[in-house]
Amino acid sequence: MWIIKPNYNKHQTCFYCGKNKAIADKENTTTLYKIVDRGKFMLSVNYLKIDIGIPRCEECYKRHKKAGKPTCLIFLIGIIIGIGLCFIYDLPFFKFSSEPSEWFGTIAVLATIVLMWFIACVMVGSLIRIIINAFMKGTKDEENNENYPPIKKLLDIGFMSQKPDAAAHYGKTIDFDKTILENTFKSITDENNCIIRRGQ
Ligand SMILES: [Zn+2]
Repeated sequence: MWIIKPNYNKHQTCFYCGKNKAIADKENTTTLYKIVDRGKFMLSVNYLKIDIGIPRCEECYKRHKKAGKPTCLIFLIGIIIGIGLCFIYDLPFFKFSSEPSEWFGTIAVLATIVLMWFIACVMVGSLIRIIINAFMKGTKDEENNENYPPIKKLLDIGFMSQKPDAAAHYGKTIDFDKTILENTFKSITDENNCIIRRGQ
């Protein structure tokens, strides 16, 4: 595993607003992965993991914290309304049949409704987040992380934000070039004011 950190000994400007001074403990972090080779077992792969710190100022840290809140709140309200509606309308799936063989259908209906409600809540939460972000002029949302130059450079050479799925890569060629990675690391250190070190 590798760690890429902004070099705070040199002046670091916040990536999100591009004007304030970044503070080390308000830093945002994200993780990228890349498969390097196939593992010992048939369905396993070895991958590199890099934790990247994104320079952030106090103000942007607070804004990001606020932006996440409506999603959680809507979700909570959504669940309460959902359960409330089920009780008010006395929906039939609340009455478990005495016949265990009929339980499967009840559970399936219940699971579908919970899942749909979950999706709806996430969608409303995201929508609110988009609206709030539209009003946060001059400040980038956390979703913009992929534009942070070191992250962009790593994405360009095939890193991904999701943990590699070994099964999905079964039978596919794995292209990993150590030299390309070293050159990218050098460019991140030299041009982007970062310190790269090995982690655990
Ligand atoms: Zn900022």
